[in-house]
Amino acid sequence: MAPVIYPTTNFTAIEQLCLERGEGIYVYDTDGKQYIEGLAGLWCTSLGYSNTEVIDAITKQLNTLPFSHTFGGKTHAPIMELADKLRAMVPIEDAYFFFGNSGSDANDSHYKMLRYYFNAIGKPEKRKIITRERGYHGVTVAAGSLTSLPANLAHFDAPLEALGVLRTESPHYYTNRKGNETEAQFVDRIINSLEEQIIAEGPETIAAMIVEPITGASGVIVPPEGYYEKLQAVLRKYDILVWADEVITGFGRTGNDFGCTTMGIQPDLMTFAKQLSSAYFPISAAVIPGWMYEAMIEQTNQVGVFGHGYTYSGHPAACAAALKTLEIYERDNLFVHAAEVGDYLQAQLRDAFTDHPLVGEVRGKGLIAALELVSNKTTGASFDKGIAGATAQKFCQDNGLLLRAVAGNALALCPPLIITRDEIDALMGKLKAAIDSTYAELKDKGLIAD
Ligand code: PLP
Repeated sequence: MAPVIYPTTNFTAIEQLCLERGEGIYVYDTDGKQYIEGLAGLWCTSLGYSNTEVIDAITKQLNTLPFSHTFGGKTHAPIMELADKLRAMVPIEDAYFFFGNSGSDANDSHYKMLRYYFNAIGKPEKRKIITRERGYHGVTVAAGSLTSLPANLAHFDAPLEALGVLRTESPHYYTNRKGNETEAQFVDRIINSLEEQIIAEGPETIAAMIVEPITGASGVIVPPEGYYEKLQAVLRKYDILVWADEVITGFGRTGNDFGCTTMGIQPDLMTFAKQLSSAYFPISAAVIPGWMYEAMIEQTNQVGVFGHGYTYSGHPAACAAALKTLEIYERDNLFVHAAEVGDYLQAQLRDAFTDHPLVGEVRGKGLIAALELVSNKTTGASFDKGIAGATAQKFCQDNGLLLRAVAGNALALCPPLIITRDEIDALMGKLKAAIDSTYAELKDKGLIAD
């Protein structure tokens, strides 16, 4: 093993795949074996692996001005152009953009800006944040505290109390429904319980609620019809801001510009990263409305500066990558393409797996989806320790398809937005074979109910 602390990896694991190059939706390992990148890397390489336009834009910027910070009034053209471009795209009025390097740091920036803002308007007690069970918002101290996946919290002693983290139920009907509750009853129950929680905590102490419009790392949970409408009504009633973490769902992933559009969310705050630059250069954005920015002006004036910023905030090469990526999305109508091929992918997945004995639920929207692997299709019972997810992931890899098992036994798909129908057919062939092999192996091991 190289002396690397690999992220989200068991320290006893050994390196098992070394990639060398990529082209279109494909990546190749050091033995030359080809794989379909069915998760777009980590839900991010929207333009695939060999987009020379983005590479050229980055190279040109590096050859012109490879670095400039943006502290204290220093700026450069790409950061200003990018902010203007994004302002015209987002569903937030007079939006302002704080640029960083990752989804996690953008969520931490939001955390700090929320506190700064509520201090500025004389409501310092309005500081708690509601997050959902099974939410994923990154791994820095604040963002990691908002994440609810057990592995990201265990042994890290996150300062949950100091950060005012409140957790509420995940809107996953398939796993969280009670008895023969309908979807509508399920939504009413979890929204009512959230309202009770808000009242018990004191609405005047709660600043915002963070949501992934459709989740990623927790297994691509698509909340039921009516959930967001009722959720937003409750949050508005108690003056709690809606914070949409669009790190995965932003920029065409769900078949629209943003996950908020697909799910009918009117956000106050948004978080972007990943597909903002097709992941060719790290960049993130914490997006706030003009009224929030205006309210903080006087406070920065008292201190002398807004005392928050990263060396690489608005790195010129990252901004150039993002600008070119956004230009390509628009020019090539990629969000419409993603909607079209996304519908095709969703239909293919449902056709192939709805009746498969290993698959309890097929879910997703646009070009993001998951198969929930279950040991008993009738009861929806799961497997211990993510054994089915890990087995399926391994068979996919053997077959030349990279997917990711998340949250135990959910096998997630999130291919590059440029994928074609023919390529989806190829992906489906590999996936079906892998799921059948997984079923046979788990059955042999006696892990599947007869
Ligand atoms: N928020 C969401 C919804 C994510 O899916 C992720 C990463 O997958 C993050 C935040 C954290 O982003 P990063 O890994 O760039 O810090």
